[in-house]
Amino acid sequence: MKLTVIGFWGAYAGKNEATSCFLIEEENTKILLDCGSGAVSQLQNYVELKELDAVVLSHYHHDHVADLGGLTYSRVVDMNLKRTDHPLQIYAHGEDKNEFQKLGKPPYSLVTQYEVAQPITIGPFSISFQKTSHPAPCFAMKITSTITGKSVVYTADTTYDQKLVPFSIKADLLLAETSFYADQTANTFGHMNSDEVGRLANEAKVEAVMLTHLPHFGNHQQLVNEVSQRYQGQVILAKTGEQMHI
Ligand SMILES: [Zn+2]
Ligand SMILES: [Zn+2]
Repeated sequence: MKLTVIGFWGAYAGKNEATSCFLIEEENTKILLDCGSGAVSQLQNYVELKELDAVVLSHYHHDHVADLGGLTYSRVVDMNLKRTDHPLQIYAHGEDKNEFQKLGKPPYSLVTQYEVAQPITIGPFSISFQKTSHPAPCFAMKITSTITGKSVVYTADTTYDQKLVPFSIKADLLLAETSFYADQTANTFGHMNSDEVGRLANEAKVEAVMLTHLPHFGNHQQLVNEVSQRYQGQVILAKTGEQMHI
């Protein structure tokens, strides 16, 4: 499976960049995890929008869904021009009925509600969910390739939560939100700091961790150093266009 970082900022997009969005590909299936602000513009450097099969949304905060409307409109254009006849599939939680019912635009985009107890299948991917601790209902996801057995766990937005350890156990890559530095309190904002990310990566014995949902302050290299104090494996700083084969 191939992962491409489309956007990695928390809260709002940095200059010419995007907030949370990751492209994951295996064989001919292309899915997005979240679709934050600036994502549609960045995506076109790596994929044709009409080739996207599905978007899986963690929650409805703007920095995770802001560009979904634009992405949906791209499918309206592409289907009407007969560039594709495949609607965009959107997978989302149903705990906020008001936000959920605004998502779809049939026949151009179709919405499926995911449930914690029922992993979903999209092409070669199996995706399971776990609710996180965050001010809005939010779900971490584990994406497993049914071809290779490799897995990526995306924490989405969360405070440090011990339940994430078994959910992330031995993942090939942990995509971890790292919103604050080690000496800052993150949980009052519903997020994790670098020390907590290091603990999670270490306790879950993951193969590698990628730091994302990065803050608009400080020196990001310090986040890497702080995570590395707790975790001996590979620590990667998310950056636009970063690609990993997993
Ligand atoms: Zn959030
Ligand atoms: Zn966020």
